Amino acid sequence: MRPLFCVKILALTPVVPPVAVVIMNPSSQSPVTPKVNLLGLTRTQMEDFFVSIGEKKFRAAQVVKWIHQLGVDNFEEMSNVSKALRTKLANIAEIRPPEVIYKEFSNDGTRKWVLKVGENTMVETVLIPAEGGRKTLCVSSQVGCALDCSFCSTGKQGFQRDLTIAEIIGQVWVANRSYFEENQDYDSRERAITNVVMMGMGEPLLNFDAVVPAMELMLDDYAYGLSKRRVTLSTSGIVPMIDKLSSVIDVSLAVSLHAPNDELRNELVPVNKKYPLKELMAACQRYLMTFQGETGRRKITMEYVMLAGVNDQSIHAKQLIQLLKDVPSKINLIPFNPFPQAPYGCTPRSEILAFQRTLTEAGYICTIRTTRGDDIDAACGQLVGKVQDRTRRAERWQQKLKAGEIVRSVQ
Ligand code: SAH
Ligand code: SF4
Repeated sequence: MRPLFCVKILALTPVVPPVAVVIMNPSSQSPVTPKVNLLGLTRTQMEDFFVSIGEKKFRAAQVVKWIHQLGVDNFEEMSNVSKALRTKLANIAEIRPPEVIYKEFSNDGTRKWVLKVGENTMVETVLIPAEGGRKTLCVSSQVGCALDCSFCSTGKQGFQRDLTIAEIIGQVWVANRSYFEENQDYDSRERAITNVVMMGMGEPLLNFDAVVPAMELMLDDYAYGLSKRRVTLSTSGIVPMIDKLSSVIDVSLAVSLHAPNDELRNELVPVNKKYPLKELMAACQRYLMTFQGETGRRKITMEYVMLAGVNDQSIHAKQLIQLLKDVPSKINLIPFNPFPQAPYGCTPRSEILAFQRTLTEAGYICTIRTTRGDDIDAACGQLVGKVQDRTRRAERWQQKLKAGEIVRSVQ
């Protein structure tokens, strides 16, 4: 089985806000006026943008396609847009992805980027290839995380800030475009990313208003055109936001369960004290109910990190079977990725297999996440910890920079 790896809309807030202000401002030609970053606009928002500058709505589909499908970041390349409009756009707008300050492509096809999203602020994005040409991108939604799960290095660094729509979709843009680098022929450019998992840094449901529009772009045929089964949001269990999510967008849901009873989950995933298992399971059932008219029985992916001697005993497997009996689920066991100061170790492989067997025998689909990209530290659980220790990494980057291994701002 393939592993699942490690990423707001405005359905609610019509999103062109800072945009509209800027555009209507007669001083928009002034160099001090910030340009509108078109990378972070959904197609609907882009339509609003074009209408606000006195242009036709259909321009939105054209420009979204140029930006997201064809990986273009300057208006001059947009050959089906008139010269006059290209000049107008260049004066008031821009296509500005997050700056790539570090990238590593491994032999097994894994690709990893460190993106600068502010002074001393970085996030990582990891692309993991799989059989059949599948390419899964693990996307971050926040810098840090406020929820402080005891086994998670992102949690240990605390919360810094939410990522913007452009910074979230920019991760997909950067990864996708990396496949176009040597291809000047627009007609033969094909979207490379096949799956996105919102499993990087941060709790995506706590950055709802940026994560949802970014996921809309992932699903939009004019942008990344991913099927809703191939975009997965992973949450630690923010119950009201699970309900809100199902009311605005249809994507696959993964829940970071990690424990089969409240006592243990309170310890591992502290947000459980606010939204205990009974409420979380009910929210999962409601989520599935929303989409029950569809063919094929949908399931929620339950992520379960294997912590030696903590949550990996046969009693836990049995409790899990009971807990999930009324929630159509598949279970993904995640070998724990250690990080400095982590108070846990990973369950030995033989015991993970035994845990899996118990669940499989009870009728569950239970997979074990395999780790790829180890050679470049890109495996998912490691993602979070790497950005955290900036000092250590900065030193390593400096060393690699000296050794000529780092390509700066290549995208
Ligand atoms: N905040 C969201 C999404 C990001 S975490 C969530 O918690 O679901 C993505 C996944 O990586 C989660 O399942 C999380 O529990 C897991 N994870 C975090 N730290 C890990 C570690 N050290 N080893 C293995 N998995 C880890
Ligand atoms: Fe935050 Fe998810 Fe890490 Fe928990 S596991 S601290 S919710 S990123």
